[in-house]
Amino acid sequence: MSFEVDLNGKTTLPLKSVQNTVIPPQKGWAGLVKAGQYIRLTDPRGRQCGDFWAFNADDLDEHLSAMHTRVWVNKLCPVPGESFHSNHRRPILQMIADTCGVHDLLTAACDEHRYRLYGLQQEHRSCAGNLREVMSPYFGMSRFYVPQPFNVFANVPIGEDGSVLNGPAPSKPGDYIVLKAWIDVIVAISACPQEFNPITGWYPTELLVDIMEPETVDA
Ligand SMILES: [Zn+2]
Repeated sequence: MSFEVDLNGKTTLPLKSVQNTVIPPQKGWAGLVKAGQYIRLTDPRGRQCGDFWAFNADDLDEHLSAMHTRVWVNKLCPVPGESFHSNHRRPILQMIADTCGVHDLLTAACDEHRYRLYGLQQEHRSCAGNLREVMSPYFGMSRFYVPQPFNVFANVPIGEDGSVLNGPAPSKPGDYIVLKAWIDVIVAISACPQEFNPITGWYPTELLVDIMEPETVDA
């Protein structure tokens, strides 16, 4: 499968998919994205947010950091051309394309405590739990710290009075983002299982992941 990404309105870059995965509803995925490769995350049905993490493959203590990224780009979330930065204050992933334009870099992943606050007595899948599950081959089974995620296709508008809101899920069927890896990273993604607020359109569905490479390399 090939795909062309629009770099700046004048130049396109043909990419070929070297690995593609369907993340089932409410589940997670993790995999290696090498430096120079691209990762595309697609919402095939629309209105599904994905919690996204990235860790330096050679040093898992270094990871995509929401707070370091916000102060670097001086806005709530990077736009195409801008990069996500790590807790070591260097760029690790660049936003290349974004057909949705609405994402969140403010809020925590949903976790077991969040669902308990809804009054649930039984276990409920969560983005934090999905992260632990899919990263266990890399971290082991220890309950490691969960960094704040990049919440793709999540609508968390800020009101004029500074209030932080949960807006309706913004993505249309087929919306995607494409990120380029500056370094080798282990990416983890959770198809958010949240059905108690509008962040997933009240009905969790699947997400698609493509790892892509340029079809030709410039001499
Ligand atoms: Zn979630």
